[in-house]
Amino acid sequence: MTRHPTPYDWIDQALETIHRADWYRQVRPLTGLPGPVVLAKGRPLLNFASNDYLGLAGHPATIAAAQAATARWGTGSTGSRLVTGERPLHRQLERAIARLKATEDAIVFSSGYLANLGTVAALAGPRDLIASDRYNHASLLGGIRLSGAADFTYDHNSMAALGTLLEAHRDRHRRGLIVTDTVFSMDGDLCPLPELLDLADTWGCMVLVDEAHGTGVLGDRGAGAVEQWGCTGRSLLQMGTLSKALGSLGGYVAGPRAVIDFLRNRASTWIYTTGLSPADTAAALAAIAIVRREPERRQRLWRNVKAVAAGLQTVADQFSPDLKLLPSDSPILCLQVPKAALVMQLGETLRRAGFLVGAIRPPTVPTSRLRITVRADHELDHCQKLVAAIAIALAETLRH
Ligand SMILES: *Cc1c(COP(=O)(O)O)cnc(C)c1O
Repeated sequence: MTRHPTPYDWIDQALETIHRADWYRQVRPLTGLPGPVVLAKGRPLLNFASNDYLGLAGHPATIAAAQAATARWGTGSTGSRLVTGERPLHRQLERAIARLKATEDAIVFSSGYLANLGTVAALAGPRDLIASDRYNHASLLGGIRLSGAADFTYDHNSMAALGTLLEAHRDRHRRGLIVTDTVFSMDGDLCPLPELLDLADTWGCMVLVDEAHGTGVLGDRGAGAVEQWGCTGRSLLQMGTLSKALGSLGGYVAGPRAVIDFLRNRASTWIYTTGLSPADTAAALAAIAIVRREPERRQRLWRNVKAVAAGLQTVADQFSPDLKLLPSDSPILCLQVPKAALVMQLGETLRRAGFLVGAIRPPTVPTSRLRITVRADHELDHCQKLVAAIAIALAETLRH
């Protein structure tokens, strides 16, 4: 019998490879409430790295809603929604999401990741085709793999490429599904939704859009990119998360009643997992009420986005060609940097200077970048300080 005495040795080698590529990742705790300023080891950092675009994760109303729900309903929902996990709060939240999205119904999952996995795998199977943007979120890719469908990736935002692939392959498959982020999470640009929906109509495809970074942020009512593009009411399914602009935890799919009903019967990541906790559910409900009631948060967000984008463009021009500001139509602003080691160094320098920004590198993205996310509760002064600090960090780092 062959002996295999060291079955875990390969892990050390794999970690070594990760280190050598400058791809090693570590967690670093923040303390205190989420907000425009956060604490790390007791030191304040200006926070340009959160997904909490509207400042709702630390809002007194969402916190109070979570506390009241915990006191009334307990800490856990104690089971699958289909068994013992259902509370009246869950349907209230689903109705509020459907109202915001102007759809017939919605279903809430325990995370956005699970919503994508379960929905894609429920909608398509081995006889079907899924067309997917190259830059789609990992959870959509996971859903595609889980579905077993024929998987076709098209170039980022290329509707010509999508049309060509549908023309070549659509007829050889039973159902067709197009999946795309509306706001691309690591670039900040938008998918050209009206054109994509026209192609879906032409080729008889279902469409699932990921509004994780659009909900609460885009559109006059904060309903997302679908609203902003004037596509409300068109035939499509919208998923999103409760964990970004809504400041809570959980995911959702909004769409026609029959589809939502089908997902309740067929989405394994909804059926075989515990229902959303009362606290998360109530916090998301309170957040949606604020999204609807306080459009001024979105106005402040966009004022800040414009200020930071203009500043970063000036910096990018100054340090060109080493640096490029990627095109964006969202609060996600990315400065592309040539090397992983350099972006990590920039991130560190900025942190020492009192700024928290994302330093993102492969394999998460094809090219390394500083990823800056803007919040509604930043002061203009915060935005100007960030731009100045980035210019100084670049001057220091690129000199060496
Ligand atoms: C964050 C994100 C998700 C996952 O949402 P969670 O609720 O955090 O699991 C899905 N899609 C996109 C585009 C995201 O950015």
